[in-house]
Order: sequence, then C-alpha cells, then structure tokens
Amino acid sequence: MSSSAAIAEPASVKGWCPGALRPMQTGDGLIVRVRPRCGALSVSQMLAVSEVARRHGNGLIDLTRRANLQIRGVDARDLPSLWAALSECGLIDAHADAEAVRNVMVIPLTGIDATEVCDVRPIAARLEAALAETPALWALPGKFGFVVDGGGLLSLDGERADIRLKAFHAEGGIRIAIGIDTTQGTQWLRLLDPEATHAAAVRLATAFVALPKSQPRARMRDLDPSGVGVLREVLARCGAPAGDLPSVNAGACKRVGLIETRGSIVAVGVGAPFGRLTVRGLTRIAETAAELGVAAFRLSPWRVLYAPVTGSREASILLDTARAGGLVTAADDPLLAIDACPGAPACRSASADTRAVALRIAAMMPLPGVTSVHVSGCAKGCARSRAADLVLVAGPKGLGIVRNGSAAASPNAFVAPDDLHDLPAILRPGG
Ligand code: SF4
Repeated sequence: MSSSAAIAEPASVKGWCPGALRPMQTGDGLIVRVRPRCGALSVSQMLAVSEVARRHGNGLIDLTRRANLQIRGVDARDLPSLWAALSECGLIDAHADAEAVRNVMVIPLTGIDATEVCDVRPIAARLEAALAETPALWALPGKFGFVVDGGGLLSLDGERADIRLKAFHAEGGIRIAIGIDTTQGTQWLRLLDPEATHAAAVRLATAFVALPKSQPRARMRDLDPSGVGVLREVLARCGAPAGDLPSVNAGACKRVGLIETRGSIVAVGVGAPFGRLTVRGLTRIAETAAELGVAAFRLSPWRVLYAPVTGSREASILLDTARAGGLVTAADDPLLAIDACPGAPACRSASADTRAVALRIAAMMPLPGVTSVHVSGCAKGCARSRAADLVLVAGPKGLGIVRNGSAAASPNAFVAPDDLHDLPAILRPGG
C-alpha cells in the first residue's frame, strides 16, 4: 500500500479528520473513514465495505454527517489487508493528503430528481479530481468542505460548507452560483456557466490557501472581512454577479421512505439510527439492491441512504428489507429527530452511553416543545453543529440540559441518566 498511509492520530486533535489511509484511534479501536466519490457507492462497493467491516472491524459502520462511511473497531495489524480490499474496489486514494481534501458533499438525488435545475455530478466529479490531483490544495484545512447542490427536491442549504455550489435558473439558462460560508451565512459571489464551475471553485480554494498567515483560516467562517474581500476579488471577473438568489428547492419534503418527484417514484430513503449501521443490516439491503438491479446507493449528511428505484414492487422490497435490518423507513420515526454521538465506550471523551440515552428519549417523544434533540457524550458536540431544541450533554454532574442551543452551551439544569423519566416534567413550562 501507498507509503503515504499513516496511522492513528488521537480523536482529540482539533480540526483533523480520519480517512482510510489515515485512520483515527478511538475507544473501540481504529476508525477507517471511506469517502465515496460524487456522493455514491456502487452496490458492489457497499458490499465490499460491509465485508471489510465484518472481517477487520467490530461489525459497526457509521454513516457520518459528512455523508461518508466509517468502519469501526479496526486493529492496526489488519490495515494492510483492509487497504488492499478497499483498493480493489476503487475506494483508496493515491495519497493520504489527496484523500483528506476530497471533502465534496453532493445532493443525493441529483440525476434522478425531475425537479432539480441540473444534474451536478459532472461538476462534483471534476472538482474531486482537481482536489486529488493538485498538491497545492492539499494544504486546505482538514474540515474544509465543498457542497454541490442541483437545486431540487432535497437541499444541502443547512449543511456546513466552506465553498458552496448550487444550480439556479437564470437569464441565459442554467447557472451555478458559487458562494462562501462566512459568519454572516452564505455569501453568493458569482453565477457561472456549469462548465466553468469546478475551475472557479479550485481558484477560490487556492486563494484561501494562499491567504497571509495573519488571517485566521481554519474555515471560511474564520476569515475577517479583508480575507473575504480577497476571495471576492479572485472571481470578480468570472460569470455574472450573483445578487439575491431565490429559493429553488421544491420545498420541505420527507427524507425517508418512498421518495417521489412529480408523481413518480425515484428512490427509497432508509435512515441509519444516529448514523449507526451494522454489517448484517447493510449486507442485507445491499444484497437485495443487487438482486433488484440497483446500481448504487447515494449517501446523505442526514444519515439516510438512498437507493434509486422506479418501481413500487422494488421500492417495497427494499423498504421491507431495510426495516428488518433495523433501518428507519417511516418519515415520522422519532429516531430521525435525534442526533447522538457514539458516546461511551466507543469514545474515550464520553461521560455516558449516549445512544442508550437517545433510545430512551425516542421512546418518550413527543416531548413538549421539542422537535430536534442532540445527545452528546461531551461538550464537543460531534454529532450536530446546529442548535437543537433539546440538548443533553453528559458530564460529571449527569446529563446537562440545554434548550435551543448547542452542546457547548452552559446547561440550565441536570438530570441523572437513571432519572430520565423525569424529563417531560422538567421540560414543562415552570418545570
Ligand atoms: S461529542 Fe461524543 S464523540 Fe465527540 S468527543 Fe465528545 S463524547 Fe466523543
């Protein structure tokens, strides 16, 4: 395997992300992160990942909030065989640094969603190739990410990114808006011809890397106004000014179950509870998909896998298989409202078994005034960066309760894991 492979940095290193070639040590062994290309894994790649997790891991796989898969519980001695197996199915990059910057999140229904502005997979593919082949870009920070959105039924607007590409209808035809996410939200810079988009994104990323060291620059949102000004100038003569952009997404739609656009079935979406998949569950659905002729799975940051299908019989077989494998298939399942990090014992920083707490919360839903929940093993809040209606943060005093905030906020009250049944009363106004 490549001499660029490196092993196991501690989970506490800030701003650093694991990869396949650069696994990370956690409480239950190494985690090996597999980055799909263009947001999809072929069914045979999915089966290969599942088999690798069975042979070399502890049987658990995470669907992460960057829409990657993570094999858990790997022993360092198994890495050469694991790399060989992943390499055989095209899931290993030539260099660990190239892999690390290939952080491109793609809207999962692109190419099959009749409501989208355009299929953005060619743009994502060119951008991924440029990132992997341009060593100057390997200096991008580990969490620096790109989002590529075709402007259809589903939206990536709520997902964190540094450089954002989104398709719009504009005067003259289809255009891709390019923007950067700053502390003020997304600043759309220009409207570009789709063919010119990936090169513009590369120019922006290159300019970010070249900013003076005096600029705080772990992410775009760390830049001060002068840094943002430099980046605006980089694309000042490309395409047309973006101005105010209308919302192009078809509107709120369900993310799991049968997914239809304009009255036709296009996919089924199956959710991984808290992002957790098992080898058994994943193998079953991948084998069924193979039997039904499904080519690939699309991965989403909201921890739902999409299998493109058009027939109701195929859709129904896949949904039944997913349900039997412990995956979420109903849009109103309370598990979909809860984010929970791996917690103890998988993470050494955790003060509680977060997933067990989350399951108990799911059984109590609906809770008064709560539509989103975040259960975190510590204040780092890995499972969710956006605010949630209810946050439970484990610490030495028990579970800290935060309302409408993040795991880093100061709790207003505490509840012991054994007293969780008191939560509805605590949450009631005046409770
Ligand atoms: S938030 Fe959870 S996974 Fe992240 S460091 Fe804390 S305990 Fe570990």
